[in-house]
Amino acid sequence: MTLVVTGATGHLGRLVVENLLDRGVPAAGIIAVGRDLDRLKDLADRGVQLRAADYADSASLRAAFTGARRVLLVSGSEPGVRVQQHHNAIEAARGAGVELLAYTSIVNADTSTIGMAEDHRATEALLRASGVPSVLLRNSWYVENYTDHIGITLERGVLFGSAGEGRVSATPRADYAAAAAAVLATDGHAGKAYELGGDDAFTLAQLAAEISVLSGTPIRYTDLPEADYIQALAGNGVPQAFAEILADADQGLRRGELATTSGDLARLLGRPTRPLKEAVNAALDVVRPA
Ligand code: NDP
Repeated sequence: MTLVVTGATGHLGRLVVENLLDRGVPAAGIIAVGRDLDRLKDLADRGVQLRAADYADSASLRAAFTGARRVLLVSGSEPGVRVQQHHNAIEAARGAGVELLAYTSIVNADTSTIGMAEDHRATEALLRASGVPSVLLRNSWYVENYTDHIGITLERGVLFGSAGEGRVSATPRADYAAAAAAVLATDGHAGKAYELGGDDAFTLAQLAAEISVLSGTPIRYTDLPEADYIQALAGNGVPQAFAEILADADQGLRRGELATTSGDLARLLGRPTRPLKEAVNAALDVVRPA
């Protein structure tokens, strides 16, 4: 059985390949797809097949998916062109006659009013129209969206956001990756839409409290109106357009649109999702002086 993982040069895709190997999937049966194969050399050394493809280049996708039985399409990261890119990938998967195409969407994609959900909804519609057997991995936030900046949060003693009392089902990428690997490596997922998130959703104030307790540094959550949050992000070097996307997402978070109580992720993992405490401690280990 040949399993294809796109976005393998990225954080999530690489973790999916690692998970497949850890599950005992033969390396020769895994095809890692990326734009820059030099970055995947270590996987080739372990026997994983590499194929180069760009979502913008249909011919490269067709070549990458040839002989594939199941494909994970990791959503692209370029706003404005993603839907066309995903369309290219879906058509390539259709041409290859894949048995299953898994797509990383956003949690609550059916109803989410977050701007970035639109591309995911459009892609899901393309998937349905294509007739390709597919499964939707509707991911909530990666907890790394917060913990990657823990050093700055500690320096300032403040966590900024615009999410009010909204709760987010954020969990480490590794959990989403393990679930994606399970979906690729096991049967019975075609036609499913999994709402994926951590078992215990939290507010940003609760996140700040957890960081305070675990670091010993008091961190307060400061909730800003959307426009002020955009300004704060832009003032800290975040490009304006991305700052607007992040602030818009926080409005969705405020409305509960990034939370799920489905339990789908834990079921796919066969274990509870990683607790917030563990993720915060891991991030603190990185920034703590040795
Ligand atoms: P990364 O940015 O680490 O990886 C994105 C991957 O997509 C990379 O391998 C990248 O390739 C690949 N990619 C992007 N554009 C193209 C293209 N035109 N052709 C081929 N490959 C392409 O993101 P993550 O792995 O962390 O997350 C995966 C996806 O999840 C993101 O792309 C984004 O859609 C979404 N996301 C979800 C978040 C969440 O909290 N749930 C947060 C952020 C993103 P290359 O290395 O060549 O650039």
